[in-house]
Amino acid sequence: MGLIVQKYGGTSVGTIERILRVADRIIEYKQAGHDMVVVVSAMGKSTDVLVDMAKQLSPYPSEREMDMLLATGEQVSIALLAMALHQKGYDAISLTGWQAGITTESVHGKARIKHIDNGRIQSELKRGRVVIVAGFQGISEEGEITTLGRGGSDTSAVALAASLNADKCEIFTDVSGVFTADPRVVPAAQKLDSISYDEMLELANLGAGVLHPRSVEAAKQYKVRLVVRSSFTPEEGTYVEEVANMETGRVVSGVAHDEDVAKVTVVGMPARVGTLSRLFNTLADNQVNVDIIIQSSYDAAVTNISFTVASDDLRKTLDTLARNQANLGFEKVDHEEGLSKVSIVGAGMVNNPGVAADMFRVLAENEISIKMVSTSDIKVSCVIPAKHTELAVRALHTAYGLDVAEQAVVHGL
Ligand code: ADP
Ligand code: ASP
Ligand code: MG
Repeated sequence: MGLIVQKYGGTSVGTIERILRVADRIIEYKQAGHDMVVVVSAMGKSTDVLVDMAKQLSPYPSEREMDMLLATGEQVSIALLAMALHQKGYDAISLTGWQAGITTESVHGKARIKHIDNGRIQSELKRGRVVIVAGFQGISEEGEITTLGRGGSDTSAVALAASLNADKCEIFTDVSGVFTADPRVVPAAQKLDSISYDEMLELANLGAGVLHPRSVEAAKQYKVRLVVRSSFTPEEGTYVEEVANMETGRVVSGVAHDEDVAKVTVVGMPARVGTLSRLFNTLADNQVNVDIIIQSSYDAAVTNISFTVASDDLRKTLDTLARNQANLGFEKVDHEEGLSKVSIVGAGMVNNPGVAADMFRVLAENEISIKMVSTSDIKVSCVIPAKHTELAVRALHTAYGLDVAEQAVVHGL
């Protein structure tokens, strides 16, 4: 017995029938004597539907209004889940991010949580209620509704678990845990019993959408016991914890991919001290997140700088560069879309030379060209043409000995 925070993703609350099933599961925990705080996402693909509507009105809708719009999705599912519990004879109350005391930075579209004042949640729990909180949203100090970035309900759940000192944070989703690769792309992917915070953080940052990267960051920082499991089957899930997989002997524990990569090349930057600083500070000031960076010089006076950004940020990047061309002093900008990033991740890489070389060999054997490379102690990433993503991910998964015979079950709407 104790306090448990659960989070149910979009597929898990995608229909009224599924909401009723979620209510049944919550009731089981209540009957076992737990206090329950439940975070939910918007139903099914409803956030995508809202984004589409906004895009029909404007290619660049106001970021404030976008947050106002997207936050409505979660308000639907929290209210319906509370009603489902009432109908089954249980006391429950739904709270928006603001009502739950979630304060964020004043950034629209990808705000970070600054602090949580959990007084209201605590008092509702004392009254014996199941507290249902809208994921993905908060409020800024100026009183504006903000959202945490796509997939951000995971982060709402982990942050609440940390703030409430919960015994456990369970993320219920449409697959039975964290796999060695996205099971939708690699049917032979295997479920991991456990994974370390660091490896999970790399996988999440490199595109494994099963957990929002900041949720893993928060879980590591506040030592939250985090479990990813299926809302459709009773199987045990994957534990994300401090140390894991040390004994498996595997060098690579997972393969991740991200299909929304664009490459930008700034041609003819003056090769002076401070060039990189000016360029990337200008981009950061305009909220552009830059990923892999390569600098190449073709003579002593000028240099070319290539970097990748998320496809969604390409337009903003090109606009920012165009506005700042005179003060940055470059010649021109080239860009390339239709790229993806495939990455191998594993804590065991640090002590194993040749892992990157193996990856390049596997890609070459499959005639896949590599456009950029980036490495760290526990990962190697290659930017490749997006049309080869699936082939690359499967070939790498096989090459590093991760395939299993049994196929993963993935639930859809
Ligand atoms: P939810 O709506 O429950 O938050 P998401 O779609 O955000 O669900 O995350 C679950 C999905 O993450 C899975 O259906 C799967 O396709 C994808 N995924 C990507 N990489 C992995 C991985 N390594 N392990 C498990 N799932 C993964
Ligand atoms: N509903 C939001 C999204 O689709 C947040 C979430 O599901 O975590 O991105
Ligand atoms: Mg998600």
